[in-house]
Amino acid sequence: MKSRGRAISFLDSGPSANLPAMDYLWTPWRYAYVSSTEKAGGCVFCDAPKEKDDAKVFIVHRGQHCFVILNAFPYTPGHLMIVPYAHLDELQKLATEAANEMMRLSQKMESVLRELYRPDGINLGMNIGKAAGAGIAGHIHMHVLPRWIADANFVSVIGETRILPETLAETWKRMKALLG
Ligand SMILES: [Zn+2]
Repeated sequence: MKSRGRAISFLDSGPSANLPAMDYLWTPWRYAYVSSTEKAGGCVFCDAPKEKDDAKVFIVHRGQHCFVILNAFPYTPGHLMIVPYAHLDELQKLATEAANEMMRLSQKMESVLRELYRPDGINLGMNIGKAAGAGIAGHIHMHVLPRWIADANFVSVIGETRILPETLAETWKRMKALLG
């Protein structure tokens, strides 16, 4: 992880100064994704909604334009992604209705994460393009994940090993129960 520990300017003050850089924050999962995607020759975000069994691919919600799926390589428990069905590589290409739904779902999933995990904060963001750290650069997606005051320190200590207190299957069940 070559970017480990590098800080970016807006985090360089106050109590957050020891948080890892955003590129580090957003990239722990990208290597596994990139290798698995390139091997398959397809797009995981186009393929996932084709699966009939949502529990198998960890889709927690299907909207009209976007679906919500758990990150298979979560940075924290509850780490999910809001993904348009359309295979688009830039946010500006996304139709207005789909973009609106993406933001509505971001609000919805924020409330779900707050209820399930009682986090101290929420990270919400997109990496658009490989240079920005996107694992699946061809298909835009919004990351939403709960954060706690101590988790950055925890991650910096254990490096690339992410120890999660619950399995993806458990996360999926708990989230589905709330979403109905
Ligand atoms: Zn795609």
